[in-house]
Amino acid sequence: MKYCTHCGAEINDQAVVCPSCGCAVQSTEQTMDPVSAKTNGFAIAGFVLALVSYILSFYGIVGALGLIFSIVGLVQVNKNHQSGKGLAIAGIVLSVIGVVLSIILVVLGFSILSAILGGSAAAGL
Ligand SMILES: [Zn+2]
Repeated sequence: MKYCTHCGAEINDQAVVCPSCGCAVQSTEQTMDPVSAKTNGFAIAGFVLALVSYILSFYGIVGALGLIFSIVGLVQVNKNHQSGKGLAIAGIVLSVIGVVLSIILVVLGFSILSAILGGSAAAGL
């Protein structure tokens, strides 16, 4: 439910005209100007950090930062009706993939290392 900006009457979300006063009803989405809507900084930062995490291969650290920034960006985009929702979502997806990849790499690295160490220890005995 929303309220008429002219008379304050409770009106249906889908209503275009207020049934009480007959004034045209503007939804919150329609009132925002797409040109004046700024792209959220956190969404941009999160996306860039997610990309950087791939380039630097420091998946865990930078990827986690990218994830945090992207989530903050997404929350702010939704709250302030800013643009950059796609960027924030892309940042979250990229960061999650990066972090998962880093975990797989670490687990693989440890299993290979323990296999080598275990093998050499067995050979030594
Ligand atoms: Zn009204």
